[in-house]
Parts: sequence; C-alpha cells; structure tokens
Amino acid sequence: MKRKNIEKVIAPPPHHWVGDGFKVHNFIPGTTLTNMERMNPFILLDYNANHHFPPSDKPRGVGVHPHRGFETVTIAYKGRIQHHDSSGGGGIIGEGDVQWMTAASGILHKEYHEKEWSKEGGQFQMVQLWVNLPARNKMEPPKYQAIKKEDFGRLTLDENGSEVEVISGNYLTAYGPASTFTPVYLMNLRLKKGYKLPVNLPANYPTALLVIEGSVLVNEIEKATVDHFILMANDGENFTIEATNDALVLLLSGEPIDEPIAAHGPFVMNNRREIIQAFDDFNRGKFGFLED
Ligand code: MN
Repeated sequence: MKRKNIEKVIAPPPHHWVGDGFKVHNFIPGTTLTNMERMNPFILLDYNANHHFPPSDKPRGVGVHPHRGFETVTIAYKGRIQHHDSSGGGGIIGEGDVQWMTAASGILHKEYHEKEWSKEGGQFQMVQLWVNLPARNKMEPPKYQAIKKEDFGRLTLDENGSEVEVISGNYLTAYGPASTFTPVYLMNLRLKKGYKLPVNLPANYPTALLVIEGSVLVNEIEKATVDHFILMANDGENFTIEATNDALVLLLSGEPIDEPIAAHGPFVMNNRREIIQAFDDFNRGKFGFLED
C-alpha cells in the first residue's frame, strides 16, 4: 500500500451569491481545478462558509431553476433549507441532515432558507455538491433521498466523541444510507483534538477534504485550517488526518466517471447535442411546472 500524497491545499476563493440566500465559495471546478474532469464524479462543490443571516420575513434563497444529468447533494451544517420541485415534492433539510436529489432526466426546483428559521435568522453553513451520473443513468426519472443525521452510518472512534458519520460508501464497518449510481464515499469526520484517523481509498479515486470546523494535519506534514479544501493526489491509497483542534471534516471520494463532459449552467451531459436537447426540452415545458 502506497501513501496518497497531498496535491494542494486550496484557500477559499472569493465568494459569490446564489440567489440571495447562498454565499458560496466554489471549490469545484473553482479557480484552481478549473475543470469538471479533475474531481469527476464530483463536478461542482459550493461551500457556504459559516455566515450570519439577520432575521427576514421573506426567506432568502434561489428561485425556480432546472437541473439535468447529475445529482445535487445538499448538506446543512448550520441552519435549515426548504425546497419545492415540479414533481410536487418538497421538504425541509434540517440542521445536520442531507438531501440527495437525483435530477437525472430533469427537474425544476427552488431552494430557500426554511421559513421559520428565516424569521429568527442565525448562523448558516452548508455544502452543495453535484455528483455526476454516468451516461447510462442521465435520463432516468428524478428522485430524492431525504437523509436524517440519525440515519448516517456511525463509527465511534474513542470515548471523547471522535467519530465517523457516513453518508454514502463506508468507513470500515459503518455504511452510509445513501444509494448511489457509482461508488461514492461521502462522510463527516468528527475528530477531537489529537485524534489521528487513517484513511484507505482506491488510488485512482478523486479525493478531497473540506475543513468545516477546526484544523487538521494531513499526512503529518500539511496543516489546513477551517474553510480550506485539501486536494489529494491520485498516487496511492493511504493517508492520515489528525485534528490539531477539535475538527469536522467532509471527506469526498469516488470512482472516476471516465466519460466526456458537456456542461452548460444547470445541465451536465456528455455532448453538445444533449445540451441543446436539454434547453429545448426545458423551453417546451418538459421539466414540468413550478410556481415562483
Ligand atoms: Mn438547484
């Protein structure tokens, strides 16, 4: 077994707003990776770093928009998010919970701060990840997985509260509840100061860490503080993460989808013809209807 080295520690790029509710730093593709291929199956990662929103009677967020060809995975670390979609579905992503939405052939939805949370305001921190679908699954019917934090796979590491929470894939004997189309590892590493976690993943899986809280030392050499993104090289299987302060780290890793990417805004397909088709279907109302 060979060591998986660090390719780069990436500081949060300047933020931009998605609607008026999501103040995000884009790490994938971002200004460093610059393309959707490097982390494929992870083709986008927007990170709303911990931010205080004042109370508002009108929930902040982003209005009706489509998606096709991939899945959106929303992790609410702080605050609550409400969503509605063109299939009549909707729900609330509670603090700590995850929504795994398979847009696949297409969906219209809107995403807002949850109404009651919005009235109070407060600290808000979230991740939205876009997970690519292989060509064979891009035109499947859309679906949701609403995953409560109680349903995460859980492995207790010590008596001080260090633990791994698995959303998808597995860490040793703890398995995540999310079903995926290709192998995807997504987990929260909650490590108390001084805990050193060994990780073993296939060498060719694109792998990264996002420090949500605290700070860590990776492979005993590289320190990363809160809001930093650690891109691992595809050169080996084993690495270690040690908490230098109580830390919460999102780990993402997955089997590469080795297919061409054609992307335009909310559509991620394999070629230009399919992108034109997506716009055409959208304009013809084939994604359904959702009131703003
Ligand atoms: Mn969306």
